[in-house]
Amino acid sequence: MTISSARAREWRRFAAGAVALGVADWLLGLTPWLLLCGACACLAWHVYHVHLLARWLASGGRGPEPETRGIWAQVFESLSRIRRQNRKRKKRLRKVVMRFQQAAEAMPDGAIVLDAVGNILWMNAASSRLLGLERPRDIGLPVSGFIRHPSFADMLNAEEFDEPIQLSSPLREVVQLLIRVVPYGGSRRLMLVRDVSRIHNLELARKDFVANVSHELRSPLTVIVGYLEALRDDAQFPAEFGRPVEQMSQQAARMSRIVEDLLQLSRLEATPGAAGSERVAVTDMLESIARDAVALSDGAHRIHRDADCALCLLGDWNELYSAFSNVAFNAVQHTRAGGTVRLQWAPDGAGGARLDVTDTGGGIEAHHIPRLTERFYRVDKARSHERGGTGLGLAIVKHVLVRHDAELEVESRPGEGSRFSCRFPAHRVVRMEIPIEETFVEETAVEPGREAVGCGMTR
Ligand code: ADP
Repeated sequence: MTISSARAREWRRFAAGAVALGVADWLLGLTPWLLLCGACACLAWHVYHVHLLARWLASGGRGPEPETRGIWAQVFESLSRIRRQNRKRKKRLRKVVMRFQQAAEAMPDGAIVLDAVGNILWMNAASSRLLGLERPRDIGLPVSGFIRHPSFADMLNAEEFDEPIQLSSPLREVVQLLIRVVPYGGSRRLMLVRDVSRIHNLELARKDFVANVSHELRSPLTVIVGYLEALRDDAQFPAEFGRPVEQMSQQAARMSRIVEDLLQLSRLEATPGAAGSERVAVTDMLESIARDAVALSDGAHRIHRDADCALCLLGDWNELYSAFSNVAFNAVQHTRAGGTVRLQWAPDGAGGARLDVTDTGGGIEAHHIPRLTERFYRVDKARSHERGGTGLGLAIVKHVLVRHDAELEVESRPGEGSRFSCRFPAHRVVRMEIPIEETFVEETAVEPGREAVGCGMTR
């Protein structure tokens, strides 16, 4: 019997009893004594069962359900059934949790559950191995007490969990750990720790190899280039060898440029972390780059410079010169004669600043753009070789910008030209205190044989 049919039956019984007692009262002329007695008996019966229920619940519903009849029998039975179902569900849930914990335990990576303030709630065996944590001793302790690294503390404090961080294990300096924190369930955090020593060592070996090979190639190449130049300049050198020697010179010069670019990349990679913070007057730097761009163009392009003189960068002069000149010279080399190249240095409206190098060249198809900063990636290999490109310029630009907390943004449409933007954050930008009348933002056309205009001067 279901509880609803038992309820209906109870109502029917109650109504029938009330009517019978009411009629008996009326027949016997006992205005409502029998009805009142019946109501009291009914109330006593229910109070007694409430008492039974309370006693049974107080025992945790563990003993057998009290034996009774009617609606109360149904109530006890339903409660027992719900209890049995709950017990089964709990068992199933416990099994799922156990299976999950076993899987997390078997993981080769460390997994640690943290609360909102970074205290350890749970950890697997691998995290003990990688970080030297111990269970249950370290449960409830702040994880920052075990990983004493400024970048880790910064990540937890700033709650910036987008990027993983790499650091040495607190147990062994040579073990490199990649740590990623994933927020979940409102205030909880799951911290994943992976041993990346093998990849790190391979990467180190690759960098060393490239640096060493480039270094070793430098001296023989200098000798070859020197001898080829001497042969070219030798008036008695047979004329029929003129062209082969010329080609050898060009290829040797190209190899030298590749070696120099590789060495520059190696130097950038060998100095990890942020670049220095000397004050760099970008306007003056652009003036010199614009002059070199004019020389490279040989007067075939219109080159404009448009700069906010008071805006300076905090960074490394040589690295920034290399990055900006790479982008500017690319613009000249990828723009047909008669085209325009524009160098613009201005605030970005959010406290930072940006250098935009815009050209009216052939542009780049969208699918090439994400790959431009890869080493040796060229959109048009043949053209790049023809122009003497190394395919390493934009890789250098990207490295320099990352070291200056900046980003490279490329917008381009085939046939319409390109815009390469170097975007610097506010903390890398300073405004020079120069008299108002000398602060100007002026557009300057840089022409061959004519000095470009510097800050604070009018033409
Ligand atoms: P490269 O030495 O070949 O110029 P970079 O790394 O400087 O090497 O550039 C990579 C590739 O990006 C170039 O080969 C070229 O195809 C493309 N590229 C760079 N700048 C421009 C530009 N302003 N317009 C069109 N294509 C460009």
